[in-house]
Amino acid sequence: MQGDEVYAVLERIGAERLHHANTVTTCCTFLEQGGLASRGFVEDRHLSQTAQLASDEIDKRYGIWHDVFLDHVDIHYRAGRVKGPNHYGPVLFMLNLDILLRLPTGSDVRVTKTNPVHWFNGQPEGDRWFQSPEELAANLAFGNFEKMLVIRTPSTMIPFPDKRAQIALDDPKKNVSCGEDAYSSASKRLMTAATAGNVKVVIAPHECRNDCTCVEKYACYAPAGMDLWFT
Ligand SMILES: [Zn+2]
Repeated sequence: MQGDEVYAVLERIGAERLHHANTVTTCCTFLEQGGLASRGFVEDRHLSQTAQLASDEIDKRYGIWHDVFLDHVDIHYRAGRVKGPNHYGPVLFMLNLDILLRLPTGSDVRVTKTNPVHWFNGQPEGDRWFQSPEELAANLAFGNFEKMLVIRTPSTMIPFPDKRAQIALDDPKKNVSCGEDAYSSASKRLMTAATAGNVKVVIAPHECRNDCTCVEKYACYAPAGMDLWFT
């Protein structure tokens, strides 16, 4: 589908932004490269990214390794279900919906019907992907977080519009293993990467709802887990 076709559907359901969550390491690479890069883009160039054990193999198997994933909802909120940290990492890029109108020529925007971790071999394409803007419009409601945007651009990355990026960063209110506060350590690393990539970044603490459980959940993270996500 074209970016403007998907934009029109998302605007109609009240989506205001698109989101991409990841670890500090992977997001520093994005900032240094000036855009949201596909897993394949980063691997091909031998840049740094945190392995995503649950999905990397699946992304390669189903030919979406060179695509960029975006959500129309902030998964941290989990649409009213169990709330807590985003499973992909504590750094959340928030993008204006109109990024869909500014994609490079030759880009393709697809939307999954289910999370690819639930796909199986031999499954018809029509069970995995919405086949038209009409089908998408008839079946997408705000909060359907399993219906993800999967974007392929010619460069296999999406440049930050006007070299600007906005990040909501989780504050776990605990330290990483070197003894530094996780939020400030992560924030500093991201700022340094943005400077290197000539990106103007605004970083603010993630605004959690009152019933959010992320701080409780982070309290249970082992030091290695904290370091993997925040350093
Ligand atoms: Zn939270």
